[in-house]
Amino acid sequence: MPIFDYECRGCGNQFEMLVLKATVAACPSCQSQDLKQLISAFAVSSEELSRARVKAARSKYINSNDVKDKRIEEARDIAEHDRDH
Ligand SMILES: [Zn+2]
Repeated sequence: MPIFDYECRGCGNQFEMLVLKATVAACPSCQSQDLKQLISAFAVSSEELSRARVKAARSKYINSNDVKDKRIEEARDIAEHDRDH
């Protein structure tokens, strides 16, 4: 459901509105259409949430790989060093 949180720039009223394709969002108290869309937990679809989770998990995975690679590199450096002597 495309429910969005809005803040009216005219009167500062905050409200939720179900926005369909034909809907022109307007402030319920002053009818101003000068609205600021707020980020709402209700507006975030489960698809977006799972995508964000995948992204977070992936970046965590990449980061841990980086750490592992660095450790392997360091170990290799030490091993080569030992061989030289
Ligand atoms: Zn208003």
